[in-house]
Amino acid sequence: MANKIAFIGLGNMGAPMAANLIKAGYALTVFDLVEQAMAEAVALGAERAESAAAAAEHADIVISMLPAGKHVATLYQGENGLLNAVAAGTLLVDCSTIDAETARQVAAAAGERGLSMLDAPVSGGVNGAKAGGLTFMVGGEAEAVEQARPLFDVMGKTYFHAGPAGAGQVAKMCNNMLLGILMTGTSEAINLAVANGLDPSVVSDIMKNASGGNWALNVYNPYPGVMDNAPASNGYKPGFGVDLMLKDLGLAMDSSLKKGVATPLGSMARNLYSVHSQSGHGGDDFSSILNLLKGYTDG
Ligand code: NAD
Repeated sequence: MANKIAFIGLGNMGAPMAANLIKAGYALTVFDLVEQAMAEAVALGAERAESAAAAAEHADIVISMLPAGKHVATLYQGENGLLNAVAAGTLLVDCSTIDAETARQVAAAAGERGLSMLDAPVSGGVNGAKAGGLTFMVGGEAEAVEQARPLFDVMGKTYFHAGPAGAGQVAKMCNNMLLGILMTGTSEAINLAVANGLDPSVVSDIMKNASGGNWALNVYNPYPGVMDNAPASNGYKPGFGVDLMLKDLGLAMDSSLKKGVATPLGSMARNLYSVHSQSGHGGDDFSSILNLLKGYTDG
């Protein structure tokens, strides 16, 4: 067991991932810009650091879980960046969902310093993170993947080695484009059923067991009251923010432009999430797209 882990970024996802590592017996030193987030991790047994660099200086493995590429580039390469702060041999694992280009660029800079770095974005949502049921999509060298595997086993149910640096991010980008489309389509279908007098739970159950079945229906129903532990039943909080989904759909659209690949449904989903965000819902869970489609009558 690698003993010392520095965990940077204790948000909706990072906090439960860190909690599972602590429960499994790992010694964690944590850092987040939000004091309350650190206090909660410390209450579970983590050590608090004054900065990301201080958290990482004695670590065997650094795990980061930040919002976007600019945060990750700054964390590793900015002033007091971790690439200069960590000891030789430290493994770097970034679990944030970011653009593949930044992931490759930071991994290459790490490589120039003799450090191994993995991009290891996750899927499974906040409940998946709490339950240790995430899926990791990993890019990097096989040896480094093997070294990180015990941690993936604690925080997740499965992992895939997608290819070299950046490949995990490409897989995640494609998955989340599909998720944005699926969540929008699922919301559209339930709204139509409800407008026709069907009970949202009944129609969800039917579609789950018919050819429209999908992840949103199985574990993340967007209609309030259908699923007790889904964000929709909790005022669309917490969960996976609209602005984070918008970021991911933007990554997919950038890539589709660069590669000349047609992604009309991804483009439509990005536009809908953009309007939803601009209507003041950027901080709500992404399943709240149902309310945009309904016309915000009661949401
Ligand atoms: P979040 O906004 O809840 O958490 C991000 C955390 O990072 C915050 O606590 C913030 O204070 C901290 N932070 C930002 N900059 C920092 C810095 N320089 N140093 C230290 N801490 C810093 O976001 P989240 O929902 O936990 O998502 C994190 C990443 O995981 C994103 O890339 C997101 O796209 C991805 N993701 C989220 C979900 C989900 O369901 N929420 C699922 C899969 C993947």
